[in-house]
Amino acid sequence: MTLRGRLTTAFLTVVLGPVLLGAFFVGATVAAVGQSRSTERLDLATASVGTSVNALCSQLEAAAGAVALLLPDPARLAVAADQAVARGLASAVQVTGPDGASIVATADPPSAPWVDCASERDDNGGTGSTGSGQSWQAPPADTGTGSPDGTGPPDGTGGSGAMPTLAAFAEVRDENDALVGQVSAVKLLDADLVARLAASTGVGITLLAGTDRATVVHSTEPSEVRGNVVATAGRLADGGTSWTDGGRQVRRLGPDDGQLLPMALSTPRDQLSGLYAVLVATVVLAGLLAVVAAWWLARSTTQPLAELADAASRVVDGDLAARVPVRGSDEVSELATIFNRMTREAQAYVQALTASRDQLRGQLTILGDTLSSTHDLQRILRVILQTALAATGARDGAVLVLDPAAGVLVGQSSNRTTPATTSAGTGPAADQPAGPDAAASQVGPDGTLHVPLGSGLLGTVAVSGQPKRGRIERDGPALSAYEPACRTYVAVPFSVPNWTDELGVGVPGAGGQRPPGRHGPGAPAAFGVLAVYDRLGGDEFDDADLMTLRTFAGHAAVAVNNVRMHKEAERLSVTDPLTGLWNYRHLRESIHREIERANRFGRMLAVLVLDLDRFKDINDTYGHAAGDSVLVEFARRIRAEIREVDLAFRQGGEEFVVLLPETDVRGAATVAERLCAAIRDRPIRVEPYAGAGRRGHASVSVTVSIGIAVYPDHASDGEEVLDAADDALYAAKAAGRDIFHVADRAAARPTRVPAGGGAATPEGGPSRGGGASFGPHPPRQTRGR
Ligand code: GH3
Ligand code: MG
Ligand code: MG
Repeated sequence: MTLRGRLTTAFLTVVLGPVLLGAFFVGATVAAVGQSRSTERLDLATASVGTSVNALCSQLEAAAGAVALLLPDPARLAVAADQAVARGLASAVQVTGPDGASIVATADPPSAPWVDCASERDDNGGTGSTGSGQSWQAPPADTGTGSPDGTGPPDGTGGSGAMPTLAAFAEVRDENDALVGQVSAVKLLDADLVARLAASTGVGITLLAGTDRATVVHSTEPSEVRGNVVATAGRLADGGTSWTDGGRQVRRLGPDDGQLLPMALSTPRDQLSGLYAVLVATVVLAGLLAVVAAWWLARSTTQPLAELADAASRVVDGDLAARVPVRGSDEVSELATIFNRMTREAQAYVQALTASRDQLRGQLTILGDTLSSTHDLQRILRVILQTALAATGARDGAVLVLDPAAGVLVGQSSNRTTPATTSAGTGPAADQPAGPDAAASQVGPDGTLHVPLGSGLLGTVAVSGQPKRGRIERDGPALSAYEPACRTYVAVPFSVPNWTDELGVGVPGAGGQRPPGRHGPGAPAAFGVLAVYDRLGGDEFDDADLMTLRTFAGHAAVAVNNVRMHKEAERLSVTDPLTGLWNYRHLRESIHREIERANRFGRMLAVLVLDLDRFKDINDTYGHAAGDSVLVEFARRIRAEIREVDLAFRQGGEEFVVLLPETDVRGAATVAERLCAAIRDRPIRVEPYAGAGRRGHASVSVTVSIGIAVYPDHASDGEEVLDAADDALYAAKAAGRDIFHVADRAAARPTRVPAGGGAATPEGGPSRGGGASFGPHPPRQTRGR
């Protein structure tokens, strides 16, 4: 059952119950009052009827007395008797003598028996006589009056009883108490009299007669109720009262209760149906009003709750704009106000969250794009830092990666205007990282951070490999001079699988060589550190922020690893796997770049092409593996003999190329001579293969022949200068090996322009297209010392 239904029911019960109860009592009271009123009417009528009958008797007695005074004068008696009848004091008057004979009698005396008025005054009651032995004497014949029997009951009901007649008697005696005469005055109770009596008392009157008192003489009752009234009266004792089926109250009177005449009085019950109709109408109206009021009350009470429930369900469905109308200032309105405030704040909170989520989503998109599109580690780290800031709501942050060579964390802060506390100029440039000796953290001019391991927050986290979260003033540590200033922080280390292996691995080529790094037991636990500072809004960072930062540190680690692997792949793609020198592919790129650079700065570029002499014999004698180790050792000796800026390549087989930037023919010759000597002077120890019939190590003497060409002296581009050097190599081979040969100026061009060039020198010949006359410097062939 709904709340509205319960409230309506409760209200109806509270209101309608008393109304119905009241109506019931009112109805019952009205009925009781109506009943008592009819009883009261009957009482009054009873008294009134008695009074009227007494009055009639008094009248008769007076008339009889008046006539008696005239005894025994017959003439005056007759006149007086006639006058009494004429005045209506009596219906008939008779005067009898002492012998009982009629002296005077008026005409038409009512038939007997009569009711003697004197019996009314008998105190013994209940003996109301209907004659008391007195009877109308037959009128004297001379009166000429008809017999009283000639008249029947006016209503024709017949019966043994005649018309009820009241009679009064007056006796006259002489001084000797002898009877002189007697006067009888009678009064017939006719229909008129009864009707008047009924009209004056206001009740229906039925005069009864006969021995059983059940004969109706006169009745003013309507004929339809008369039978009922008479039947009811017949069941009653004298003076008893009862109700007929038709709703009339009936009282039986006389003759035993002091009433002279037997009669039935009846009165209708008070007409209460109108009253009841009003009562029912009132109750119905009150009920309707109660229903309407209950409906309104329940509705006005439950409607705000229903609206509240509706709004709450809309909120559940995600509509945070749902509001409820606030009416008045009752408790429900207060609830509505609080609900509105709650949803408003939730909406604002969700909007803020959505904005920050959108920002984070954008940042993550950028991060994804960056991770997939570039191997620019600094850029990746910057985006990771920005994303970590967006995810944690931090004001500032830093990401640093260990420079293993320098033993310094190098990285960037998100806010380049605030990080360093010292002047930016004191730090080394980003491309010249601080060496291992740099004791203090440094800041580059572009805001690059340089924090030594073990120093401040970032250095400590990197060394320990343990994340840190807290508030500087409460938890420490003391920040180093070059870290970003902050109040609260989270710093998370990150590591790359096997990254310590890298620390000691050199990079091929003098130019790509890496200085020896720090590794071993003293190596830091982490490769890099990601930190965020000072959450916007002032809260401290929590464990969730720490987890978030760990995630991004994981990204940073993966990014560093990817970049490392990418660089390794790149390096491998341009490196000869056997000797670790640059390969032929890298030679093609490098030669053009170096030519370009020489061109730009107006410098020279010397190109040396080296070919081991009779290498096939070494393979044949000691085996292919021994040949390989000769190649490896040869490469190592080349690297040892050249500068850092020089580049060494294995072109293929046992042929090598060395590029010497900013070097002229003389310098190139010096290097070539040194290289020849470095191979020649120290035989290479090899381990011959079993099939070669030797055991243990063998010492192999190896020599190399070198061809030299110089840009722009001998050629105008990379291809040409390589060709020229090749030609010079052939010349050296032809000249007997273990020597170097410089291309001559004239010989360089014909390789590209065959016409007229002496290019027909057979392989192994002393000089393919050689001729010293073309160049400013005569070609020199120098046998190594
Ligand atoms: P020359 O003095 O004329 O240069 O004589 P040579 O024997 O060196 O002549 P050639 O250039 O014809 O022979 C090169 C040999 O080098 C042939 C091949 O067996 C060998 N060789 C090429 N590449 C490799 C390699 O990677 N490892 C080994 N062990 N041998 C190689
Ligand atoms: Mg060769
Ligand atoms: Mg060779």
